[in-house]
Amino acid sequence: MTVRKQDCGRRVVKLSVKILAAVLIAVICAGQAHAAAKYVFLFIGDGMGTAQRNAAEIFLAGKSAQSSQTAAPRESQLVMNSLPIAGEIGTDSLSGVTDSAAAGTALATGRKTKNGAVATDGAGVKYRSVAAIAHERGFKVGIVTSSFLEDATPAAFYAHSDSRTRRYEIGLQLPESGFEYFAGGGFSNPKGKDKKMRGLIDIAASKGYRVTSTRTGFDSLTPGGKCIAVSPKVRAGYMPWAIDADEADKNDISLAEFVKKGIYLLGGGSFFMMAEGGKIDLACHANDAASAIREVIAFDEAVKTALDFFLEHPDDTLIVVTSDHETGGMALSVIPDDSMAFYGAMSLQKGSYQRFEGSLPNPGKEGVGSFMARARDFFGDFDGLGEELSQRKSVRDAFAMTATPKKNRPVKSAPYKKLYGPYDPFTVAYMREMNAAAGVTWSTFYHTGKRVAVSAVGAGSESFAGSCENSEIFTKLLAALGIE
Ligand SMILES: [Zn+2]
Repeated sequence: MTVRKQDCGRRVVKLSVKILAAVLIAVICAGQAHAAAKYVFLFIGDGMGTAQRNAAEIFLAGKSAQSSQTAAPRESQLVMNSLPIAGEIGTDSLSGVTDSAAAGTALATGRKTKNGAVATDGAGVKYRSVAAIAHERGFKVGIVTSSFLEDATPAAFYAHSDSRTRRYEIGLQLPESGFEYFAGGGFSNPKGKDKKMRGLIDIAASKGYRVTSTRTGFDSLTPGGKCIAVSPKVRAGYMPWAIDADEADKNDISLAEFVKKGIYLLGGGSFFMMAEGGKIDLACHANDAASAIREVIAFDEAVKTALDFFLEHPDDTLIVVTSDHETGGMALSVIPDDSMAFYGAMSLQKGSYQRFEGSLPNPGKEGVGSFMARARDFFGDFDGLGEELSQRKSVRDAFAMTATPKKNRPVKSAPYKKLYGPYDPFTVAYMREMNAAAGVTWSTFYHTGKRVAVSAVGAGSESFAGSCENSEIFTKLLAALGIE
């Protein structure tokens, strides 16, 4: 397990100067007149609050400090944090704390709705998305996600459903959109819940989509026509975890590559691209900080790809990076000077919580000692904590719960839910203790109502500064596209 190659601090500073220069030139060329953006990127980090961004940044600072053996650099390390325009949005839906369906709907269509509704009012009234409107006006459209294609966030841009759980119905609407590029994850339920329906891939192909799920197929995609490019390593529709990715495996395709390919395929004319880091949310639901950080970094690398394009077309490109909501109530008690220790702790974890859970044997066969040894090996023995954790009551109680058959666990009781949520008790308890030792604490396994950050650069980006509601992002995007 390794982390993908990152920019060092100095390079990010250079990048900031480049961005500033590009912005100045664009402003001078535009002569103060408001020029519409020809190329628009909307990046959505699902579940990505400010703490998730900061954690990834401190991790990168620690990494670069460790490799250079100098004091931790304080300058911005995440590309998204280096963008010149900063704002924030409120995320609540009509149901209170939002889910990804209502939040996706607000961002995509400008309408607050009930949780579960995908670009509708939850009772049959459909709302049009910025992607659909742009498409009608001649923009090509790309939808990229590391989650599955019928998941709530991407779906809000191309489909309508009163319930996000009707995945087959949502999947059927994908080819009807006529959008030119879908990429990243695959279909989670290609033949419907009972697996008896006609395959969604077949249907998309019959409607003129070229579908590929191999590296060779991906590499051979050329502009023109419509396509669905699925990760070769898709599982239940999801792209693999960034923390589990094998860099040496050339068959793997990163989120950044999917965005870069989208630019190549759509870039002949004007385009609108939505790209989602869909698994930040999943990692935060499970309170798995190390996996969340790697997902934020993979997402940021995708933003970097768009920024490279912006630097070539500064007066015609708009990049907006935001989130649909925060997940987990993540809190950091790490200061930048602790970044090396933080990186040390977080980089020890060998893979995602899912991989660890999946590797666990039957607890009846192997006792508590074996589980503790496995956890110490997988999550790392940061600060010699392994021995101490193997004796800690919270971890031993969690093991006892894991060893209890599921039907005998008090899964519906409030204390159980607060301690373990829907996860394997031992895995989640161990991970929470490791995270806390590194300076990351979590308050929930669910979404929170925290406001989330907006960062932007390029044509029309000024309007994204300051504080507003998630639904206003839609209006600002339309204005930037020159559609009033
Ligand atoms: Zn979620």
